[in-house]
Amino acid sequence: MTRIVLASSNPGKLAEFNDLLADSGLQVEPQSAFNVPDAEETGLTFVENALLKARHASRISGLPALADDSGLCVHHLRGAPGLYSARYSGQHGDNAANNARLLRELDGVPTEQRGAFFICVLVLLQHADDPAPLIAEGRWHGHVLTEQRGVHGFGYDPLFLPEDETVSAAELPPGLKNRISHRDRALALLRSQLAEAHG
Ligand code: IMP
Repeated sequence: MTRIVLASSNPGKLAEFNDLLADSGLQVEPQSAFNVPDAEETGLTFVENALLKARHASRISGLPALADDSGLCVHHLRGAPGLYSARYSGQHGDNAANNARLLRELDGVPTEQRGAFFICVLVLLQHADDPAPLIAEGRWHGHVLTEQRGVHGFGYDPLFLPEDETVSAAELPPGLKNRISHRDRALALLRSQLAEAHG
């Protein structure tokens, strides 16, 4: 097993990544185990922020590092909430307030202009100065609903109607969401890149 550090302190993510990467020979450890403080996310894109976080965690831990960055992009809002998805309302992680703001911003906007996608970008650096990181991106397209539906998932799930579905992301059984979401698509891609990188 190769030990790598996850540039996040979220225990849910750690379990998910360990589960999905176990058969790739990777043992994922939280950055808190190496006293890595949160990196400053000063990038203007998801990929820049994921790179900043991975480089920071790798530099401090001395291990290869994996980072992710994700969010919701609404076409009508020129990609907002985007990088600010977790704190769209001003309060970090306040899902109810974030959803309320999204509904306000799209008030009166017709269905055909409510297109949006979730995005997840994963970056894996072998070391802090790795010039050729593995980068995997997954997108999940759909529409923003006019009212919240469902109780599963988190974040903007109750307002997101995935394409080819008749129910919101928060109405999908959780196991199903995790097989078709942006995060899952990015991970599948990363796994195939890892297999290729190892020959
Ligand atoms: P982070 O990358 O974990 O910081 O997530 C950024 C933010 O994007 C979250 O706080 C949510 O608001 C939103 N987000 C990312 N993925 C999802 C998802 O699968 N469902 C709902 N919201 C999500």
